[in-house]
Amino acid sequence: MRRMTAEEVVREFEAARKAGDIHAHFQPQYNHATGRMIGAEALMRWKHPILGLQYPDVFIGPLEDSGLIRDADLTLFEFICKFLRKRLDAAAAVVPVSFNVSHVDIFHGDYVADLEEIRARYGVPAELLRAELTETSSMSGLDLIQKVMEHFHAAGYLVEMDDFGSGYSSLNVLKDLPFDIIKLDMNFLKGDLSGRGGTIINAMVQMAKWLSTPTIAEGVETIEQADYMKSIGCTYVQGYLYARPMEPEAFAELLDTCGLEPTKPAMEFVDTLNVNRFWNPDSLETLIFSNYVGAAAIFSYEKGDVEILRVNEKYLAEVGMNLSEVETLKTIVWSGFSDSERERYVLHVERAIATDDEETFETWRTVTSDCCGEDRICIRTTLRVI
Ligand code: C2E
Ligand code: MG
Ligand code: MG
Repeated sequence: MRRMTAEEVVREFEAARKAGDIHAHFQPQYNHATGRMIGAEALMRWKHPILGLQYPDVFIGPLEDSGLIRDADLTLFEFICKFLRKRLDAAAAVVPVSFNVSHVDIFHGDYVADLEEIRARYGVPAELLRAELTETSSMSGLDLIQKVMEHFHAAGYLVEMDDFGSGYSSLNVLKDLPFDIIKLDMNFLKGDLSGRGGTIINAMVQMAKWLSTPTIAEGVETIEQADYMKSIGCTYVQGYLYARPMEPEAFAELLDTCGLEPTKPAMEFVDTLNVNRFWNPDSLETLIFSNYVGAAAIFSYEKGDVEILRVNEKYLAEVGMNLSEVETLKTIVWSGFSDSERERYVLHVERAIATDDEETFETWRTVTSDCCGEDRICIRTTLRVI
């Protein structure tokens, strides 16, 4: 089997498209904490009748250079819609499928309108389709990508930032564009998670959390990588560890047999907070949540004794509880803490009070959840005296 040349790609594309040789392989995404499938990414493949299966590194470049990528991406999108339509008609299990949008696509006309025409034809709900844009797209101009995102959101799609961390402008892009999901590519920070790579990934996941944006770790090949990602709060993974990209038939079979996770609430772009209370600038909500839109709790402290007064849903999610267990929280504040960790925590509280300054630190706790039993988690806490 040999790789197609760039000339062959351009010359043969239209015929291949008509013949149905341009199609998708699906790579499932999982919740590493529950083992359940949460979604999949569609990846373009070219079934060449003579040369055999061709991969994106062979044809995406030439298709982009020649402007054919738009047709290719629309073709793939139709393939995905067809696949989902067939499953829906058979009342079979489905998960949201992500599709890649080339930075070239967003240049010409209204790309989203073209996708919408196809989606409408197959009657597939927009919640089942997710657009993946790369940071590179933003180099075409922030305005342009902003407009495309608006169109996607208006039509009901979630938008994912693909390959976060690979470009030069990650922070700006994150700040300026309302991505719903961030995909971190482990390949960019190869290997050494105990060194700088791990620190950088940790920081990225924290940043995403502050923005209330779920992250998916991509390119996860080892159990160590997956465990590390889970330990820093990124439980969604896509990679060879779980599954390689596979033929649609194999993927359909997998969907039929494996456990699926309802894609709520973490994967949904929902704000669990009561927005109305935020209009009042004096409310505690405003004080706390405007500064820190992550897991938050208000507690009182006196001589080593802590009483929890209020927590938000994200806090409960972090410590592996559900809302009905809120009452329990009040009585078991220190459960999960070892004596030494508890001592450390108290030390930080007292220092925050003494200095009237913010304290940020990390403690280890043991949490228990329905899905995965007992687990050790590291929680980073920022304390502020109010
Ligand atoms: P991507 O969107 O970041 O896709 C993830 C790539 O990582 C895929 O390569 C996937 O097979 C690979 N991958 C998944 N898990 C692992 C892992 O554990 N280890 C390693 N080393 N790799 C893993 P693939 O399919 O070769 O696609 C490469 C790139 O081509 C994609 O990167 C995407 O940028 C582009 N591409 C793929 N399909 C399309 C498409 O339909 N349209 C456009 N415009 N671009 C596409
Ligand atoms: Mg992608
Ligand atoms: Mg990627």
